[in-house]
Parts: sequence; C-alpha cells; structure tokens
Amino acid sequence: TEISPESLKQLEEIGRGAYGAVHRSIYEPTKTIIAVKYIPMDITEESKKLQLIRELNVLRTATDDTEPCPYIVKYYGAYFREGDICICMEFMDGGCFDVIYKKTGPIPEKILGKISVAVVHGLHYLKSRLQIIHRDVKPSNILVDSSGKIKLCDFGISGRLENSVAKTYVGTNHYMSPERIALAGQYDIRSDVWSLGIALVELATAKYPYPPDASIFGILRHIVDGPAPSVPEGQFSPEFVAFLSKCLQKDHEKRANYVELLQTDFIKKYEQEEVDVAGWVQDVQSKIAVIRAAERVEHSHFPSRR
Ligand code: ADP
Ligand code: MG
Repeated sequence: TEISPESLKQLEEIGRGAYGAVHRSIYEPTKTIIAVKYIPMDITEESKKLQLIRELNVLRTATDDTEPCPYIVKYYGAYFREGDICICMEFMDGGCFDVIYKKTGPIPEKILGKISVAVVHGLHYLKSRLQIIHRDVKPSNILVDSSGKIKLCDFGISGRLENSVAKTYVGTNHYMSPERIALAGQYDIRSDVWSLGIALVELATAKYPYPPDASIFGILRHIVDGPAPSVPEGQFSPEFVAFLSKCLQKDHEKRANYVELLQTDFIKKYEQEEVDVAGWVQDVQSKIAVIRAAERVEHSHFPSRR
C-alpha cells in the first residue's frame, strides 16, 4: 500500500505537537481515513530530502511484516510537500492518552494494564524484529481506537529526523532517562522502559511526576539527581507498583528489559484478563465531547475570557 500524495485529501486538524500538526485525511482511491503528520523542515538539497524519506520508509517494514504487531500504528510512508515532511499513518479515532487524562482525570488501573501490555509488546517487537528503538515514548504517542485497540505511534521518527537535520529536531525531554541525560550521546534501549514508567505514573495520577513549572534545566536536574517517581501508596495493586519499580530504576543496568517485563505478574495478569477497553473509550469520548461543547459555549458567551 504505497500512498501517492496527489490522491490525499486533507480534512480537519486533529492535534498539534511541538513540531507541527496532524490532520485527518482521506485517501481517495480506497476511501481510507488516515492520519498525516506535517513537520516543517528546512531542507533544500534534493539528495538530503531523498535520504530522509528513504530512512523514514524503513519504518514501513513494521507494517509490511508478514506477522504485523497489533500494538503498532501502521505506517504508510513519507513524502515532501513544500517545506514539510509528511508522514502517513493509521488513524486512531480514540486519540491519545495525553488528551484523555487531561480532560477526564486518572486512567483506571485495568486500562493501565492493557496500555502496559500493548507498549511492552510493541517496543519488544520493534526492537527484536526490526532493530528500531522508539525514543519518544510518552502519553501522546500511545493511541486508542473505538474498538478498544491500544497502539504506539511515532516510533523511530525522532532519531531519524535528528540524524538528518542535526539539531533542529530533538525529542521531548520530559521523559528522558537519567542516563540519556547524563551520558549524552550514548543511548541504551532501556531508556524507552524508563519513559514508559514515567508515562504510566503520569496516567495513573493525572499528573506529570516532576515539577512541571520548573525550567527544562530544572526538570533534567530532578531526573538525574532526584529519586525515581512512583505512585502514592495504597491506591494501586502491588503488581502494578512492582512493575513500575522495575521500569523506574535510575541505574539502567538494574532496569528491567522487555523479556523481564513480559514475565511480571502485572503483564501476565492483563494478557489474560478481559477488559472492556472499547466501552471505556466510548465513556471518555462522550465526556470529552461534553467538555468541548461546554468550552465552545463558554467561549461564545465570554469571547474575551480565554
Ligand atoms: P505530540 O505527540 O508531541 O503530542 P504529534 O505531532 O505527534 O505531537 O501529535 C499531535 C496530536 O495528534 C497527538 O497528541 C494526538 O492526539 C494526535 N495524533 C497523532 N497521531 C495520530 C493518529 N495516528 N491517529 C489519531 N490521532 C493522532
Ligand atoms: Mg506524537
């Protein structure tokens, strides 16, 4: 499934990150709804553009795999348009967990269980089968759809953009592991495990665990010098707490790898247990719809108050 850009029709914007916007789009020949991410890039040399597209299209092997992983958003390819690099991927109609928790509060543990199963299997698959390190694990890169599927997106992109356009693109700092900060340059794949731990604490408590008002320097200092974050006592199962502590070891040598994480009671439990993720998605989506409608009313009655 190669996407030809001329046959893509852009629909509404569905989100915006630090580097650009994501639009819902329709691929006319097959009437497929996809998501397209636009990142402005000041590359003018054709050879550099081609090289970046070639590197990004390596990610397509994840989608073309004969046994594709169910926890990875499908990647359809990338192309240049005007000054933007456009990355085409599967559209997930439930959106990301970052928006969900910010609008509706802490994510229940049973959903965190299903998120953990998806992310650990997804990261393990990327690494063991495709030698891809994610490098940008965070709540906004974990997506859900209305059938209840949970998938990782944006894998391998930050590394590839960093390589080809040097310092104009750097991934999010807030989820970086202590060793990634302290040993700049060296990069262990267990950094993604740390980021998963931070993301889970954030989703479980509806709060980013380091002082969010600190400068980026202050946050990085806390990550390197402060204790590893955890969740408040008494509100979560011992299996979840144990799983988090395996992810959030500041010393990466002591941090669990994917094989170890897959053997934890928490992962085993949620591989077995049936959870009605689809029903939960429907619930949160209707709450979010009400909140958005209220925001629109509020805004139209008090247009000066923003
Ligand atoms: P970030 O991940 O840093 O928030 P992005 O540019 O990657 O920034 O994404 C912006 C927003 O677009 C995300 O927060 C998410 O809500 C939405 N989004 C991204 N990719 C998809 C997708 N494939 N399907 C549905 N929504 C998406
Ligand atoms: Mg993203």
